Amino acid sequence: MKNIIVKDKEFKLLLSEAKIKGSIKNIADKINKDLEGKNPLFLAVLNGSFMFAADLMKNITIPCEICFVKLTSYQGMQSGGKVKEVFGLSERIDGRTVVIVEDIVDSGRTMQQLLESLSSRNPKEIRIATFLFKPGSLQCNLKLDYVAFEIPNDFVVGYGLDYDGYGRNFGEVYTLVK
Ligand code: 5GP
Ligand code: MG
Repeated sequence: MKNIIVKDKEFKLLLSEAKIKGSIKNIADKINKDLEGKNPLFLAVLNGSFMFAADLMKNITIPCEICFVKLTSYQGMQSGGKVKEVFGLSERIDGRTVVIVEDIVDSGRTMQQLLESLSSRNPKEIRIATFLFKPGSLQCNLKLDYVAFEIPNDFVVGYGLDYDGYGRNFGEVYTLVK
């Protein structure tokens, strides 16, 4: 397998398409069992999760809805930190079982802010499905319900994940060559 170049950096294969498909089928099977009868609303976070969301949803067989949101960053009032708000969520989520579909949990701060923001809309339950998880990088207390792959603390691209906007189009995951 040849290395790829994205902009000015070289990356090598980390997760093949076959491996990805297999793991996603496994978590979809688990979701089908866990959420049967719960009429879940899948909430896929753009841009990074578009490939994961598509492949995951093709394996979900229970009645469900899916919608796509974006997280917009703005400078918060408190402690000068960045605050993320959910953009594009037109569906009501009160009383619903919501499944967040994310590309990657790194420090976990993005997910934590998303959980806070969604909780204020009174869902019945929020579950998290993430394609990638870097356990060595996690900085907060998060319960991840469905994880396709745990990976080392290195920068990855492909399968929806970008480097400076590029590289999302690859069907596999690649890791930075140092
Ligand atoms: P957090 O640190 O809040 O968990 O993750 C923040 C965001 O950083 C993720 O949603 C993702 O967009 C980006 N990110 C973290 N690690 C990587 C990585 O290895 N590759 C890419 N392309 N993005 C990453
Ligand atoms: Mg993301």
